[in-house]
Amino acid sequence: MTATDEAVTASKAWRERHFPGQGHVDVRPRKQLAVVTCMDSRIDVFGVLGLDIGDAHVLRNAGGVTTDDMIRSLAISQRKLGTREILLVHHTDCGLLKLTEDGFKAELETETGMRPSWAVESFTDPMASVRQSIQRVKNSPFIPHRDDVRGFVYDVDTGELREAT
Ligand code: ZN
Repeated sequence: MTATDEAVTASKAWRERHFPGQGHVDVRPRKQLAVVTCMDSRIDVFGVLGLDIGDAHVLRNAGGVTTDDMIRSLAISQRKLGTREILLVHHTDCGLLKLTEDGFKAELETETGMRPSWAVESFTDPMASVRQSIQRVKNSPFIPHRDDVRGFVYDVDTGELREAT
């Protein structure tokens, strides 16, 4: 049985616990909040931030980096789905701390003959990287609401959330 098989099985039990009791929830996040964070398996976004179904958009990629595709999602989130605040969460012990821009690109090129056009977005300091991601949001003309943009580093070993200053 694969992990996907287990997930599909788990979804049936989950559905029985949550539906039809939940009813219809509006597509526009209740808290008007968009959270951008890493795909890391140790970050329980809903648990850490006290969120419930329907409260916030949760956008994730490797590193929680504000790439062009994150800007795309944030533009849709604010312009079409009513969010107003952006909360960025990077974290300690991130997978992106363990590779380098040139090293990973060279590895891909050696193995496949192709060098990717995208940036790896590796970093050495999560606090510096979250500051850069905040700056990218603040510099984007596609995101209309940029007054409430805050960034944090989540410590995966202690659960502490430290704000970027
Ligand atoms: Zn990470």
